[in-house]
Amino acid sequence: MANDCLFCKIANGDIPAEKLYEDDEVIAFRDIAPQAPLHFLVIPRKHLAGPAAIGAGDEALIGKVLRVGAELAAKNGAASFRLVANEGAEAGQTVFHFHLHVLGGRAMAWPPG
Ligand code: AMP
Repeated sequence: MANDCLFCKIANGDIPAEKLYEDDEVIAFRDIAPQAPLHFLVIPRKHLAGPAAIGAGDEALIGKVLRVGAELAAKNGAASFRLVANEGAEAGQTVFHFHLHVLGGRAMAWPPG
């Protein structure tokens, strides 16, 4: 747990969130400002600042984040969905705890803005 990390606090239950899934390694919760009819985040409980902080020892954990995201998308009615992980402010990262965005329920444009 990193001090003053919003998503560590959500993972610990110190800040409420609308959880879709949790286990001892990962947690999924709805984004507070949804950008699509279905928009939730999947995070590891382990504090990693972002994609660039993923180490070789985290590969199974991040693979699980992807699997849980895809399974929850399907479970919540999205056969087609987009997975996004932002690294750094220029890419749009605002919370510096690794999170996978899962977006679905509408058509998506490409390239992203
Ligand atoms: P990013 O901009 O990629 O760092 O994504 C951070 C996401 O966290 C944004 O989509 C925010 O809407 C979302 N967010 C911020 N605070 C909360 C919160 N308390 N509960 C759920 N989602 C949040």
